[in-house]
Amino acid sequence: MTSNGPVSSPAGLQPASTTSSGVKMTPDPHNPKSPNLGPRSPSPHSHGDPNVENDPRYITFPTAADEGDEEEHLLGFDYNQLPTYPVRPSFKDKPEEANMDTHIVAFDPCKLDPYHPTSMPIYQTATFQQPSIERFGPYDYTRSGNPTRTAVEELVASLESAHAAFAFNSGMAAMTAMTRLCDIGDEIICSDDIYGGAHRLLTRICAKQGIATRFVDTTDVDEIARVISSKTKIVYIETPSNPLMRISDVRRCADLAHKYKAWLVVDSTMMSPYLMNPIKLGADVIIHSATKFLAGHSDTMAGFVCCSSEDLARQIAFVQNAEGSALSPFDCWLTLRGLKTLAIRHDRMQQTASEIAEFLAKHPLVSKVHYAGHPKDHPEGAFELHKSQSRGGGSVISFETGSVRYSRKICDFCKIFKISVSFGSCNSLIEMPCVLSHASIPKDMRGIPEDIVRLSVGLENASDLLADLSTAMKRALEFFQRHSARPSPAHVDNTDTPSPSTSSNPKLMVNGVNGTNGHINDINGNGKRALLPCAADSEVRGEGEREREEGAAEKRLRTEA
Ligand code: PLP
Repeated sequence: MTSNGPVSSPAGLQPASTTSSGVKMTPDPHNPKSPNLGPRSPSPHSHGDPNVENDPRYITFPTAADEGDEEEHLLGFDYNQLPTYPVRPSFKDKPEEANMDTHIVAFDPCKLDPYHPTSMPIYQTATFQQPSIERFGPYDYTRSGNPTRTAVEELVASLESAHAAFAFNSGMAAMTAMTRLCDIGDEIICSDDIYGGAHRLLTRICAKQGIATRFVDTTDVDEIARVISSKTKIVYIETPSNPLMRISDVRRCADLAHKYKAWLVVDSTMMSPYLMNPIKLGADVIIHSATKFLAGHSDTMAGFVCCSSEDLARQIAFVQNAEGSALSPFDCWLTLRGLKTLAIRHDRMQQTASEIAEFLAKHPLVSKVHYAGHPKDHPEGAFELHKSQSRGGGSVISFETGSVRYSRKICDFCKIFKISVSFGSCNSLIEMPCVLSHASIPKDMRGIPEDIVRLSVGLENASDLLADLSTAMKRALEFFQRHSARPSPAHVDNTDTPSPSTSSNPKLMVNGVNGTNGHINDINGNGKRALLPCAADSEVRGEGEREREEGAAEKRLRTEA
């Protein structure tokens, strides 16, 4: 069971009322209809402590002195009437008092602490002592509520203009809690290029529980309209999607979902509240993997569900308490600490990402760049849509090369960009979604090019990152030129006439069979075109013999280097 919560502004809290079962409890500050019965009379069980007497966050149970038969009242009350999460003010429609960068830093996480610490203390405790058996304090058990957690939940709710936010032990735990609001027979409509783990949850767990998911291209609202019905409980979108950076229209998706009494849930991990606020655009719920930008240092796993209404907040809090998926006090503290630099991290990373996206767009070995911040990387209208619902392109970029092998080698040869899943951290990361982050989606359902490389741009110096990428791309090419066993040894071609392109990469002018050989324009900057063998996917994956050869060659190359 949960009692009320402490860290919110006392002005946001109301005095106690009495439930039908006789429990005196704090009226819900989220509910404008909640009765205000005036100051509470002293309880004979609070030992005269004025802090307890006067604190509106305490819950008083009926006692013999209050109500007659103590046992009947104490044991007979309706437990489910107790609030299931610590009380805090609503941040929905709350006027912004400062710019977000100021607000994050100026946020006072522990207003009621008599010592006024600058950093929120870590309440590393599982239990909280109660003032008496009839009177409950603001917290009783950390699964239900903890002051450090309330602090981070309040900060995130205020950043997202949510009614309330709830901190989970991972982004997936947050998303799972949301799916728990579905019943057997309900349906979820979901973007067809969502994060692989979300796809796994929906297809391998929710499906077994009788909740079907329809995957559609949510960038086209008509596609959603085609499958939405009275069975739809959730429309789930990620915008920009990842890794293809496709843009869905939050406002129109929300309108459509609401017509069918469904919730629009936006996974806004890629943007974070600094760049986008989906609730303000009409979404009902925002999911964050706080493992990414919010915590920002790759040192903790965390997730948030931000709810736009009291009803949703109560349901999510109930699930969180029932399932025990809340974030631990220490991880809440790490997230609070990471959040302090959210704005400055985003600004710097986004600036560098934009430069890198420019570089990639001009690179002769890159066939396509996906970046939310550049107009030319989107189909018509999508960039303007993204601009209208966000404040920037973020710092995740993906690009295609037309060759799985070449993409793999780029990843291998990067030194500052570390090969890792995830994004949104201080340090720059590189990965191939089809091999790592999205590998859990079956190949035929993925719709992601196999050769796509995803970059998460970090805080390193932009020129170092550019040099790292540029060197890796050059070395990857040299690797093929020196070591490719098939289809033919790489060579430098001096001819001026480009060969006709048959590759998916218009910049690779292919002269081989099945797109396996390609001339590359002036990659070495010497006015000559190089020849890049870019094996088709089927030739690359799962061929033990070939892989071994490549591995040995690469080892040799590394030793030489
Ligand atoms: N949403 C997105 C967009 C993600 O990329 C991820 C993880 O990579 C998640 C949710 C899941 O978050 P977590 O890894 O914190 O469980």
